Amino acid sequence: MKAYVVGSGPNGLAGAIELARNGVDVTVVEATARLGGGLGSAELTEPGLVHDLGAAFMPMAVASPFFRSLDLEALGVRFRDAPVALAHPLDDGTAGLLRQDLGATARGLGADGGTWRALFERFAESFPELLDDAMQPMMHMPRHPLLMARFGSIAAQSAARVSATFRTEQAQALFTGIAAHAFGALDKPFSAAVGVMLTAAAHAVGWPVVEGGAQVLADALVRHLVDLGGRVETRREVLSVRELDDADIVLLDTTPAAAAAMLGDAMPRRFRRAYGAYMHGPAAFKVDFAVDGDIPWTAEGVRDAGVVHVGGSAAEVSAAEARITSGASARQPFVLVGQQYVADPGRSRNGVNPVWAYAHVPYGSTVDATERIVRQVERFAPGFRDRVVATHTTAAIGLAAVNANYVGGDINTGATSFRQLIARPTAGRKPYRTGAPRTYLCSAATPPGPGIHGMSGMNAARAALAQL
Ligand SMILES: Cc1cc2nc3c(=O)[nH]c(=O)nc-3n(C[C@H](O)[C@H](O)[C@H](O)COP(=O)(O)OP(=O)(O)OC[C@H]3O[C@@H](n4cnc5c(N)ncnc54)[C@H](O)[C@@H]3O)c2cc1C
Repeated sequence: MKAYVVGSGPNGLAGAIELARNGVDVTVVEATARLGGGLGSAELTEPGLVHDLGAAFMPMAVASPFFRSLDLEALGVRFRDAPVALAHPLDDGTAGLLRQDLGATARGLGADGGTWRALFERFAESFPELLDDAMQPMMHMPRHPLLMARFGSIAAQSAARVSATFRTEQAQALFTGIAAHAFGALDKPFSAAVGVMLTAAAHAVGWPVVEGGAQVLADALVRHLVDLGGRVETRREVLSVRELDDADIVLLDTTPAAAAAMLGDAMPRRFRRAYGAYMHGPAAFKVDFAVDGDIPWTAEGVRDAGVVHVGGSAAEVSAAEARITSGASARQPFVLVGQQYVADPGRSRNGVNPVWAYAHVPYGSTVDATERIVRQVERFAPGFRDRVVATHTTAAIGLAAVNANYVGGDINTGATSFRQLIARPTAGRKPYRTGAPRTYLCSAATPPGPGIHGMSGMNAARAALAQL
């Protein structure tokens, strides 16, 4: 049996591995020169400084059923955690700190420690069971119904409502920033879902980085695929599925729009309509910095953090997210700063550290957000600007130019709205089907959505094998 996988993102590679280990002869075809899609790293600023090109913090690469099915250690992949998973500095010189140790986090949050524990402890303790269900299409018989009912009762709320259960600015901001990873308005039902999942992940497995950079993980997946008999082709953009006529299975690690274009008339009208209605969300503007020494954060604990959420209070982060979702740009955007070198010092050279950052900006934005990002960091780390030795910027449209899946700079390959929680891109138990014979969508535009988990790829491969 023969298969092609179009696109070598983590989902494409996961789908290819799942097919290859079931005896299928697989070839992955990638448009660019580099394999890995949103999973990659390179020396972007100064020689020897390793920056992640896309994904950096990967709890699901430790915990998802696909990655748990691999012996990553034997493949040379090691994960590293910073002492503090996440810090959220505030204007008064304090910061909310999230550590993997839930008890330590709760103690640090003072008056809100009990509420934090009550909300997240059960999900952190049962994280593998939670993922068993959450990494599937929404429409399925839950394997852990009580746990899922409890998760659903909190995840269905707005992030603003969950945040309001806390009394301190620190806990409110901490949770709001995590929920903002979804890129969207935080007062809408279900906007708490990503925040609850990522907080549970932080306490269960941490928010680790890959030692040596994200490309190490992509390369390990490729090596494993080749060991299983798979092949890879780079610099070949597939424009039509007709180019792959000799295959029994085709997996598309692409956007729904690209899949529809590649399938043409082979796609039934019902699917074409659903794919045409698929919406993209807000975008990212990425800046990588080479920084002499540490960022001079004012608040204690922030220098020890892997991720720093820069955006001020919960109210301010919510307002910025509402603006960019409506298409307007925010003067003080929500910025995610990655200090991967804290967990993985081998990425630095001679005391100069690679810092990864991106701001949330509107879909398709052409605004240069570099100065806004620098000002936001400077606000909580006076003197930052003077320590920057070099910068490398990738605007929203630049992200789209490098990876066809990031339309308009949308790094989630589709809005994480309630509608697209249910129909990503179609509703039902097999959202991987394109309606065309032998062809399945396997990108982050299918459940469980964005992130480095490989589950869209594995689920699509299983759907294809089951149908055959
Ligand atoms: C700046 C940034 C930061 C991020 N941070 C994180 C993070 O910290 N943690 C996390 O979990 N996730 C993060 N993500 C998201 C994560 O990278 C994505 O969700 C994930 O990579 C999606 O995987 P995928 O396989 O669906 O697609 P992608 O990784 O987008 O890969 C798609 C691949 O398909 C190729 N392709 C597309 N069309 C064609 C075609 N017609 N022919 C041939 N090849 C084609 C593309 O070139 C690309 O290589 C981040 C992403 C970005 C950009």
